[in-house]
Amino acid sequence: MLKILREHFQLAMVVMLCSCAIIAIAPFAIARAISHEWLMAGLDSAIVLGMAIIMALALRTGRVKLASLVLAIFYSAAGVAMVHLQSNSLIYWIYPISVANFFILPARLAVLINVCALVALTPLAQHFKESLEFFEIVITLLLVNAFAWVFSWRTEDQHRQLQQQATTDPLTGIGNRRKLSQYLDSKTIDETAKFKGSIILIDLDHFKDINDTQGHDQGDLVLQKVASIIHGRLRANNDEVYRYGGEEFLLLLHNTGLTGAIQVAESLRHEIAEAFKNSSVPLTASFGCAQHCPNESWSHWMKCADQALYQAKGSGRNCVRPLPGAPTTPD
Ligand code: GH3
Ligand code: MG
Ligand code: MG
Repeated sequence: MLKILREHFQLAMVVMLCSCAIIAIAPFAIARAISHEWLMAGLDSAIVLGMAIIMALALRTGRVKLASLVLAIFYSAAGVAMVHLQSNSLIYWIYPISVANFFILPARLAVLINVCALVALTPLAQHFKESLEFFEIVITLLLVNAFAWVFSWRTEDQHRQLQQQATTDPLTGIGNRRKLSQYLDSKTIDETAKFKGSIILIDLDHFKDINDTQGHDQGDLVLQKVASIIHGRLRANNDEVYRYGGEEFLLLLHNTGLTGAIQVAESLRHEIAEAFKNSSVPLTASFGCAQHCPNESWSHWMKCADQALYQAKGSGRNCVRPLPGAPTTPD
């Protein structure tokens, strides 16, 4: 549990906000029940219960984005209701509530919810003794939102850039192994079990010879060219390619069975061999294909593709091997 919270900032924020709110509000619910303030005691108890349910759902289902949105709407609405029902002095709780929204939501959504809360508070203007007092509250709330929005927007932008750098292979410009892991990890248990698709693991044959005879820079150019050949073969929105290792690529084909994957691998094998046949060191590649079976774990699926690739290497390279299945390439 601690590991999940450490790795997932948004989930950690949801859990922290809910826990703090429960600890802070529960004593008030009890105190108000003791002093027979039933309406406020009921409202406090409903907030505590709502927070506990949202936290439990976020932890159990992993649907943190949805939980964050529900949580933000829930406590913002509860805050506004408290101010309306109890006293104007509670309006100062709207400040931390506004800022908390920026921690768990994208900046635009946080602003939207905060503006709605502010609009819902406007009927209170008449209760303030000095007309300027409410005006000051509105202005300071808007300023707090503006500063939080700028900070949040900058943080989101930096996060996007870091994420892009961390998941892109700088040499070929395609996704790296971390990007593949993130994609697979983002699937729920149910989605993993029902996933339909195949992978093709591609390993360049005797690539070390190119580095040794023509230099590392030439090796880099070859890797870029192979990446662009594979990239050119992708179906938009259906296939993805990743640089899986130094001279290994992984093609993820959605909604494609083993036969389809073998066809793609065969055509790529020809294309790569053709593209480099006149080079001083002709280049070929070996291919391992595996189809995802229902309820199969990602790691087992990858292992199958790896074994298929191993078989392709063992069969003399420059060939396609599926797993399970018989050899397809007449070598
Ligand atoms: P095999 O057919 O068995 O796969 O032989 P191989 O030579 O392709 O495989 P091996 O694992 O022996 O060597 C892989 C080479 O790929 C070694 C490494 O220097 C090279 N390599 C890995 N990453 C890069 C890179 O980014 N640029 C270049 N130029 N070479 C790389
Ligand atoms: Mg290799
Ligand atoms: Mg190799």
